[in-house]
Amino acid sequence: MLSKKLEHITPSYTIEISAKVNELKSQGDNIINLSIGEPDFFTPEGAKNKGITAIHHNRSKYDAPTGLKELRSAVQHKLREENNIDYGLDEIVISNGAKHSITNTLIALLDPGDEVIIPKPFWVSYSEMVKLLGGTPIYIETKKDNDLKLTPKELKDSISKKTKLLLINNPLNPTGAIYSKDELSSIVKVCLDNNIYILADEIYEKICYIDNFTSVASLSEEAKKITVTINGLSKSAAMTGWRIGYSASSKEIAKAISTIQGHLVSHPSTISQWAAHGALTLCEDEMRKMVNIYKRRRDKIVSLLSKIDNISFINPQGAFYVFIDVSSLKEKFNYKDSYSLEFCKKFLEEHKVAIVPGIAFGVDDYVRIAYCTDIHDVEEGIERLKTFIQLL
Ligand code: PMP
Ligand code: GLU
Repeated sequence: MLSKKLEHITPSYTIEISAKVNELKSQGDNIINLSIGEPDFFTPEGAKNKGITAIHHNRSKYDAPTGLKELRSAVQHKLREENNIDYGLDEIVISNGAKHSITNTLIALLDPGDEVIIPKPFWVSYSEMVKLLGGTPIYIETKKDNDLKLTPKELKDSISKKTKLLLINNPLNPTGAIYSKDELSSIVKVCLDNNIYILADEIYEKICYIDNFTSVASLSEEAKKITVTINGLSKSAAMTGWRIGYSASSKEIAKAISTIQGHLVSHPSTISQWAAHGALTLCEDEMRKMVNIYKRRRDKIVSLLSKIDNISFINPQGAFYVFIDVSSLKEKFNYKDSYSLEFCKKFLEEHKVAIVPGIAFGVDDYVRIAYCTDIHDVEEGIERLKTFIQLL
């Protein structure tokens, strides 16, 4: 008998759709995959070489549960120089991807029944992670006229005595929207006034097309105290399979995360950690080049989507996603449970393009396109979307 914890857990839509696409491709279907948020670039040479050297130098023994000191120093330097946050080495823990940093944080902070505030739309795994770890997700419906971003008033209205934590993602998956410094300051104020921790998932921070990205913990000493900053190399350095992410937090939380991690997984692969060290210390130029290419794709996709009737979208300022409002086409579909799921299913079956239904992110009126794939595929995918909508 499986644990009761699993009764209300659904598998990751994004991972499942991608698996389905690979299956269809292996059967000979020519599918355009605009579903998964995985960079189409390869890991930069500097990172690969550091990993290879680590293998040759036998850097393959157990190490500290917090992660390699050298990598923590590189993360410390990055956070100080790029994000203007001064963390001590003992406040940083390296984990197996940002996913693992987030789950470690939730284990460290949550008691059964604690409420975690998750603004909609949210990245697929947040809700399931919270439920798996005994917390209760409290969802907030955000407004389109605020680009589906959380407002301080919405936050205040959803706080109860059981609220422990706010999960905030910036830049946002699935919308690509970015919170301004002022917006974050007023959200942080509500959290400080109500003794709520903040988990700031900044995994897309480098993939940012505006000039001034603000890290939550950089706002003030008080903000830093209540915030766990999450980041990693999967997106910024195209290192998804290496599985390196990190958390930076108060010493107390970092110690708890290290204890949890020490028992559950010891630490991430030392070889991957050395590769991540290479990425952070040697590969800034390659990372910047990737972002420039994403930006060109963003510009193109926005221009193409603007010419399609009956849809609208949130203006993407970062990450590599566009979240498209397809609510005006609803009456053209016969669906039972989820409109966006039916929309994406029909689009995949009839036009061979994979995108993600908004329901995966808690918002059924939308669908998500990921443009971390070749620009020709993106253009062709949008052309097929236009035809699909015209034929409905
Ligand atoms: N947070 C967000 C918002 C994401 O989109 C992802 C994508 N996988 C992650 C965290 C996890 O990244 P990873 O575990 O690969 O570092
Ligand atoms: N975060 C990416 C996405 O949203 C990768 C898949 C996943 O880990 O869920 O598509």
